[in-house]
Amino acid sequence: MSFSAPPPAVVPLLPESAPFTAEQRAWLNGFFVGIFAPGAGTPMPIPPDALAALTQSGDLAPPEGLEPQGNADADDGAPWHDPSMSLEDRMNLAEGRPLRRRLMAAMAQQDCGQCGYVCETYADAIANGSEKRLNLCVPGAKTTLRAIKTLVEETSAPPAKAEPATSTMIPAKAHAPAPKPLGYARETPVEVTFLSRRKLTKEGSEKSAYHIEFDLEGSGLDYAVGDSFGIYPENDPALVDALLAEIRAPADFPILDRSLRDVLLSDVALNSAPDALFQLLSYITGGDRRQKAKQLALGEDPDGDAAHLDVLGAFEKFPGVRPDPEALIECLDALQPRLYSISSSPKVTPGRVSLTVDHVRYNIGERLRHGVASSFLAERAREGTKFRAYVQKAHDFA
Ligand SMILES: Cc1cc2nc3c(=O)[nH]c(=O)nc-3n(C[C@H](O)[C@H](O)[C@H](O)COP(=O)(O)OP(=O)(O)OC[C@H]3O[C@@H](n4cnc5c(N)ncnc54)[C@H](O)[C@@H]3O)c2cc1C
Repeated sequence: MSFSAPPPAVVPLLPESAPFTAEQRAWLNGFFVGIFAPGAGTPMPIPPDALAALTQSGDLAPPEGLEPQGNADADDGAPWHDPSMSLEDRMNLAEGRPLRRRLMAAMAQQDCGQCGYVCETYADAIANGSEKRLNLCVPGAKTTLRAIKTLVEETSAPPAKAEPATSTMIPAKAHAPAPKPLGYARETPVEVTFLSRRKLTKEGSEKSAYHIEFDLEGSGLDYAVGDSFGIYPENDPALVDALLAEIRAPADFPILDRSLRDVLLSDVALNSAPDALFQLLSYITGGDRRQKAKQLALGEDPDGDAAHLDVLGAFEKFPGVRPDPEALIECLDALQPRLYSISSSPKVTPGRVSLTVDHVRYNIGERLRHGVASSFLAERAREGTKFRAYVQKAHDFA
């Protein structure tokens, strides 16, 4: 098996010798991601001990899934746990190890917590069958997803079966995962209310950072200094309308009991075009276009533009294609929540939570691209806008 992908960018982080506890370092590192990282949204590596504390990694169910968990590999030192290493090198280091270790090597090694786990516990959960979603590694993106799928398909378990709108599932002798507390996990968000935003950076500054406030009243949410706040954003309506126009699909096309436009706004990711979308395009095009779509579906890059193809960009590349709206939705990934380090203290502003958010914007060709969540917070949310949100706890923050 061979995997190749460019090594992920590594962003400097607070050294372990810095005068902070592990949990404080984790919180600060997350905060720095948003404010200082080039192309924020590519989280930096956070020390595993700190991130283990940030997530509820103790919930792993007993070994009944794809592979029993033993402790034979417990002291293997995970030499692949280095975000600057290429995927290919990581997989080579894990070659011959149990599935759960090879799955761990496939993760982006950033321990960013966005999946609700750290790299090791997410891999364990897939291997033991308690986690069926294979596509939660945000920094690993499509290359990690492809590697995980390959590993899962290579096991003796029945092959993975695609599920609609992201939940790439694996059949396994899986037991139900432990229920997550309401409002304290990405799976159990509650409703919170957007209160206000205030721009922190000066006009003309290269970065645009905002102080954002939410009202937690009625949500049942509580937090402590050091926790992170997860929010489910909505896509930019202008982007959704441009996509509908490109594929000439009616906004009110019914998808179950909702409209196509509504599903595109709030359910599916419109950034990086998934392999499944190119597969769909290969079914409904012909000739050279079909060959290109097939190559893109396999992770190849025939025209050197694959890294920049979002969903609209994919349809612009194959103009005139009109997919069936339901098939389109089934090909797209679910819109993922984003984490933000909480910058308020419940003692100072009880019932409210504040965030410091960098507005992600960048140009690809002629089109200005906007970060989904940061632009929702920085531009589109209005006082009273409801968000689905959760608190990701950082335990034992000193
Ligand atoms: C634990 C944790 C804490 C965090 N805390 C904070 C915080 O306090 N404040 C904060 O602002 N953020 C924070 N982040 C980051 C935050 O979660 C989001 O990732 C960030 O806001 C971007 O999300 P988005 O939806 O706006 O952008 P997305 O729609 O996710 O787009 C971001 C993606 O756009 C692409 N991109 C960005 N710039 C470029 C470019 N120049 N060229 C090409 N592609 C580019 C990259 O692929 C990047 O991954 C934190 C993350 C973690 C994991």
